[in-house]
Amino acid sequence: MKLFLSGHNYHYECANLCRLFFPYSPVEEMESPCEDENNEPYAEAVILQNVRNYTYKVMCCYNGKSLRDEETKLVHDEYTLTRMLYRLFERITGNSPKWGMLTGIHPVKLLGQYENKLGETAAKETFTKDLFVSNEKYTFAKRTLDVQRPFLKTGENDFSLYIGIPFCPSRCSYCSFVSQSVGQAKKLIEPYFDLLLLEIDKTAEIVKSLGLNLISVYIGGGTPTTLSAHQLKKLCEKIANSFDMENCCEFTVEAGRADTISKEKLIVLKANGVTRISINPQSLSDKVLRAIGREHIADDVRKAFDTAKAAGFTSINADLIVGLPEDSLEGFKKTLKEIIRLGASNITVHSLALKRSASLIEDNRDISSHKNASLADDMINFSVETLSEAGFEPYYMYRQTRMAGNLENTGWAKNGNICRYNIYTMDESSTVIACGAGGVSKIKNPYGPELKRIFNFKFPNEYIGRNSEIIERKARVEELYEQFRKRIH
Ligand code: SF4
Repeated sequence: MKLFLSGHNYHYECANLCRLFFPYSPVEEMESPCEDENNEPYAEAVILQNVRNYTYKVMCCYNGKSLRDEETKLVHDEYTLTRMLYRLFERITGNSPKWGMLTGIHPVKLLGQYENKLGETAAKETFTKDLFVSNEKYTFAKRTLDVQRPFLKTGENDFSLYIGIPFCPSRCSYCSFVSQSVGQAKKLIEPYFDLLLLEIDKTAEIVKSLGLNLISVYIGGGTPTTLSAHQLKKLCEKIANSFDMENCCEFTVEAGRADTISKEKLIVLKANGVTRISINPQSLSDKVLRAIGREHIADDVRKAFDTAKAAGFTSINADLIVGLPEDSLEGFKKTLKEIIRLGASNITVHSLALKRSASLIEDNRDISSHKNASLADDMINFSVETLSEAGFEPYYMYRQTRMAGNLENTGWAKNGNICRYNIYTMDESSTVIACGAGGVSKIKNPYGPELKRIFNFKFPNEYIGRNSEIIERKARVEELYEQFRKRIH
């Protein structure tokens, strides 16, 4: 879509707002207003400065129709402009996004911040009246916030450890992660693994000197169980020997893909302190699994659940995705019911996030006309109803850009069996120190709202080739804690 802006610097905010309605169409900013009328979505957002006030002029065109709006205000602000754009897009497309004007990825965190600042009633008003969030989504965000609230407060020295294993047995067609398929990157695993152990050593040294307290461990990816049983054992032992595990209340390993799970690996994980694993089928339809490039079938997932239970795991997460190619509402219903029957204690329901290059995308379509939007919405509604009835509660949530139906990803847990790490990383309320390619350490000032990020290189070959830089960057963790502590004392 095309966008013309003038009289302000709200480029990022206006472009994000356009993406809410046209997520699959790149936003092209024009240097001058568009003269020609065509069917391609187009918008103008202009602020004119008067002697005592500002005039906001907004227009949009879509499908041969155009609409305009104008307001005069004493203040110059992005909210007025984006709100006017939002209302026009709503009218011209006939579509009201359920998350309203919210473009951020942490709606629950935002609601918590409003509640802390304004109180519950005013926070609800802000969400539903100012940001146009539907009552349905406000209620869902509030429910999630209330479940996670008891876990948000952590000790000033508490931290979680994330370890990234960016390898997978093959690449799923919708994947937007940095993960490399083993076929392409087999030779990188050994050197990567050795350097990862060194980064863990360095991290442990820093953590010790700062007196930090490890409360949760998460090994994610990629697919960590791409590693051999021997490597998994070595990794778990390295963690246990490097950190004080006394107060570590959970240790998760993403066993992600059923085609990487074996009895031997699960026994090793269980024997080495892992308390929770994730088996991520996304779907239990063989047709869908084929369509997304998986090299395993649904039966492998069923067997993986049996093997995990036999190895003694009682906390098992399963990731599902709504809006996958070849899936149907009936197919999704069957998948969800079976995953519950298989005994998952955590179920994470994702909405398919499409990369712009994905074949599923049809440019210039607004979100309501995208073929997956209403199907994804029906699937999400079914999951909310079914998981609630089965005794699950939503405990963390996040959103991404270009999600099917502009919806959300939600982690559900049964009997309080939540994964704290997921809350900490989404709410950004407690420090997470990351090791490995693609890892992002989020260093939270325990005495204030500040959060600083330290990025590792994304790809395994960069991680290997420039590892000394990663080790140097780790020193920043120490510096940040020293600054935070100095300021308070
Ligand atoms: S398992 Fe996950 S990380 Fe690996 S290719 Fe598939 S979507 Fe990407």
